[in-house]
Amino acid sequence: MLEPPDSSRPEGTSGSAAPVFLAVALDVPLPGLFDYSHDAPLAPGVRVRVVFGRRAMVGMVWAVRERPEVAADRVRPIEAVLDDLPPMPADWLRLAGFAAQYYHRPLGEVLLPALPPPLRRPAAYTGSRAAGGPVRRADRRPGAARSAAGEAVPAPAMTLTAGQRTALDQLQALRAAGHGVALLHGVTGSGKTELYLRLARQVLDQGRQVLILVPEINLTPQLEQVVRTRLCASTGDLAVLHSRLSDGERLRAWLRASRGQAALLLGTRLALMTPLPRLGLIVVDEEHDASYKQQDGLRYSARDLAVWRGHDLGIPVVLGSATPSLESWRRAQRGDYRLVSLPERAQAQPLPDIRLVDTRRAQLEQGFTPQLLQALATRLEQGEQSLVFLNRRGYAPVLRCPSCGWVSQCRRCTAHTVLHREGRRAVLQCHHCGDARPVPRACPDCGDQDLQPMGRGTQRVEEFLAERFPQARIVRIDADATRRKGSAEALFAQVHAGQADILVGTQMVSKGHDFARLGLVGVLNADTMLFAQDFRAPERLFAQLMQVAGRAGRRAGGAQVLVQTDYPDQQVYQALCRHDYVRFAESALAEREDLGLPPFSSQALLTAQAARLADALDFLRAVRAQADAMPESAEVCLYDAVPLRIVRVARVERAQLLIESSRRGALHGLLRALLPQADALAAGRPVRWGLEIDPQEI
Ligand code: ADP
Ligand code: ZN
Ligand code: ZN
Repeated sequence: MLEPPDSSRPEGTSGSAAPVFLAVALDVPLPGLFDYSHDAPLAPGVRVRVVFGRRAMVGMVWAVRERPEVAADRVRPIEAVLDDLPPMPADWLRLAGFAAQYYHRPLGEVLLPALPPPLRRPAAYTGSRAAGGPVRRADRRPGAARSAAGEAVPAPAMTLTAGQRTALDQLQALRAAGHGVALLHGVTGSGKTELYLRLARQVLDQGRQVLILVPEINLTPQLEQVVRTRLCASTGDLAVLHSRLSDGERLRAWLRASRGQAALLLGTRLALMTPLPRLGLIVVDEEHDASYKQQDGLRYSARDLAVWRGHDLGIPVVLGSATPSLESWRRAQRGDYRLVSLPERAQAQPLPDIRLVDTRRAQLEQGFTPQLLQALATRLEQGEQSLVFLNRRGYAPVLRCPSCGWVSQCRRCTAHTVLHREGRRAVLQCHHCGDARPVPRACPDCGDQDLQPMGRGTQRVEEFLAERFPQARIVRIDADATRRKGSAEALFAQVHAGQADILVGTQMVSKGHDFARLGLVGVLNADTMLFAQDFRAPERLFAQLMQVAGRAGRRAGGAQVLVQTDYPDQQVYQALCRHDYVRFAESALAEREDLGLPPFSSQALLTAQAARLADALDFLRAVRAQADAMPESAEVCLYDAVPLRIVRVARVERAQLLIESSRRGALHGLLRALLPQADALAAGRPVRWGLEIDPQEI
């Protein structure tokens, strides 16, 4: 099944043939490919078992080499050809090759982590040869009409609104043209999902595959259910891929998709790297979402790679969002992407009424203005649900001594520890390294026993609301409340079933769920999001608040959103009240252009870690000096090396060097020349370093 055509040789010649040298990619933190020999050529994309150092590892053949890079007699033979799978397809290898080049990582760090874990282990997967085979056709569940969250799934085949029909025509034109990227900009509730489904249906009917990417699958059981009922009954199977699957589940889904048995693949960013032999359409829902960017290892953007993959295959890509990233918006403005707009909601409900509550002169009670408390009381009387949104989990962000000013700090990080209080249990937890310590009985500095929590997180808000509205059923949804598998689903089900009056939640509640009974959203600490250091803070805040607002009252009319702020005049809040993404995007882009920030420039971030900050800074300064001396840095701006805002995490001190150019090619040209030198500069220094292309957080 495996042997590629060019590797089969006539019987009887095998003993005498000279060895063939193979360039093999290995997932090791070393640049380049590794030489191994075999008695016959192997096709690129074949997995092989090799010994590296003293370890048996799975590698992937990248190419056949004329001669090895080391002395031929030092080249080891491969141990085995893993022929449980056909070689990885050529388009998949192109995609991985592009990612390695664009993100400046060794091929092995791209190729192998893209495979399900069992395929990377030297002795794990034996493939379809094992008795029964690991691949069973998926149990086809009967077309259940209820989602996991207990909500009724929309009936099949609704009549499109006029706006949807126009948008669908435009998207079809794109598909007829063969390829291209569409940016589908539709307000929350405008029925983007329906358009994805219609387009997908057409592509499936032609016998092609469809890839749908979502930011966080565990929060979107609704989409999975809709896709299953609408698209999978007649046209083939659905495979689902995300990081919460067991290795076996992930392998089975990956195999069904890559063998073409599953016509539809729905997944999070890791699904992007799945081979799909008949791929005909890629949809990226909520394309602006930061979850598409992997934050460790290969720091890739699944959205950007999706666009590349679509272009490479000559197939359409649809990027959907109510608040597109400014990168995508600009591309649409320039005509690189086709802009398709859905300015109205699909059902005749009004958009929520968003108001700012000026907190500058307000008498706050535990962070709540009288208006917000009054609004909560009213909704409670009317039997409607409310959501109190604040992006801060725990009880209080810091514990403080009122006598001497001591504040709780992590032993290992330059960060405050957060007070967590669950029932009678209380701990001080570091949100950066995870370290947790008991709460001291008295101030470690002065002995005062009256330590005070400062500020508030979701737990404290929950506690306050329970006291203030004793008759209300309060449900808190955040990372702490949903740690156990299945608990998020259970909490959401409770809300959907109307068994909650007030929902207290972090950004977790803003994705994927529409709360039909929700009449009021109160936003508590928006300003802290606005004044985060990052230049993308206003963009993120706008997207976040739009999304939270969109959760409210999709069925009932007249939902209200109250945003408490000290800065009601800020552009982002003003645009928010008018639901005016376009105006916001225009002004934010004008500002970025003035400052030469992305998308008007390309950035790369070099980070260094050391036990002592000075070593990290020294290294980055040396790299910078090196770069300044290179001709390739002519069109590139290198900033000063600076400590990270939180310098020390888990006893490691960190610094960064931002590199920027108005021309992407110039930036990458410099990096290609510079990175080998950075490696040389790091040798012998007590530092570790890393590179992120298109960093989302600076
Ligand atoms: P978006 O993803 O754009 O926020 P959704 O796709 O979730 O919006 O659609 C919002 C709601 O409108 C859903 O309940 C959906 O079933 C409904 N809907 C979509 N299209 C139509 C239509 N043509 N007629 C009636 N209801 C629709
Ligand atoms: Zn004290
Ligand atoms: Zn810490």
